[in-house]
Amino acid sequence: MSTIPDGAPHFPVQPNLSPFPAEERRQAVLAPRFGTCFTDHMARAHWSPQTGWTDHRVVPYAPLAMDPAAAVLHYGQEIFEGLKAYRHADGSVWAFRPELNAARFAASARRLALPELPEADFLASLEALVRTDRAWVPAGAGASLYLRPFMFASEAFLGVRPAAGVDYLVIASPAGGYFTAGFAPVSIWVARDQHRAGPGGTGAAKTGGNYAASLLPQQQAREHGCDQVCFLDAATSTALEEIGSMNVLLVMGDGSVHTPALTGTILAGVTRRSVLDLLAQDGREVVERTITLAEVLDGLRRGTVTEVLACGTAAVITPIGRLAGEGFDVTVADGAPGPVTTELHERLTGIQYGRCDDTYRWLH
Ligand code: PMP
Repeated sequence: MSTIPDGAPHFPVQPNLSPFPAEERRQAVLAPRFGTCFTDHMARAHWSPQTGWTDHRVVPYAPLAMDPAAAVLHYGQEIFEGLKAYRHADGSVWAFRPELNAARFAASARRLALPELPEADFLASLEALVRTDRAWVPAGAGASLYLRPFMFASEAFLGVRPAAGVDYLVIASPAGGYFTAGFAPVSIWVARDQHRAGPGGTGAAKTGGNYAASLLPQQQAREHGCDQVCFLDAATSTALEEIGSMNVLLVMGDGSVHTPALTGTILAGVTRRSVLDLLAQDGREVVERTITLAEVLDGLRRGTVTEVLACGTAAVITPIGRLAGEGFDVTVADGAPGPVTTELHERLTGIQYGRCDDTYRWLH
């Protein structure tokens, strides 16, 4: 099913005539490290205040020529998205709720004073690239084609103001599972002194600066022997926000599921939304609120918090087995994936890979 609205711009394809056999490269990437290998083409479009969005096309994947004064290199005016295309057993290829990524991309653009790309252009660019490079969509459990749309200030100008020249591109990378261990519990280090976003800042936008700010705390999490970093809110350093590039959820002893509310400092995950939709549909109580670290530690000790999980496009649903930080190191229940986490993983991947009915019409 194609849901591209009428009037969506066409992305004409300029084929990649590379002499390197694509089939050989596709074979070579069957067990890739995440995000290290890219398909033959990329979609692109250009914006200026005079013309609006123009020059939509699919071109051979190649390095970009960029002016050293391009504003993005100096002031970081850029945004991106991340979503996946999945191959079903019948060979067809599907994206999961891409219109939510389109909406989030537009919201990120507004926050970074970038021009909004219409949803129709966003969807058309994904579809044009995936159609052109469909042979690159891997098959098999946990495999997908990761799609990375992004937009940046390409105008050569060193004044600090929104750029008057902006480029939009989509690149694609065949991916296996995000964590090499697959569906296995990860350990989390809670960063007390460093934050990724503050009130009124850009935390709810998908912009590179947030990720740059997360690199050092992530490195420190590793130094403490943990897989991922969990951020607390910048204002009080008491409330859970999110984990690396995933949202966090708690399963409580009474069966309800609690997750930090979207207060403007957290990214509104597509996976988070989908998980909350599935749980609510099951009649489970779902609560979006402020969750303090103190109450989580207390709940884990007393057994009122029974599961902790993280969710996001790259890692889907990931069980959290251990929570550590300055002065504490706690195992979540018995450290193994809990039943709610396991069921959510099954159901979500079931929809994405076409093993279950797409009851909510989430596939495009
Ligand atoms: N939080 C952050 C900071 C992220 O980068 C991501 C990944 N996009 C998420 C949460 C999860 O979002 P999604 O489910 O849309 O991938």
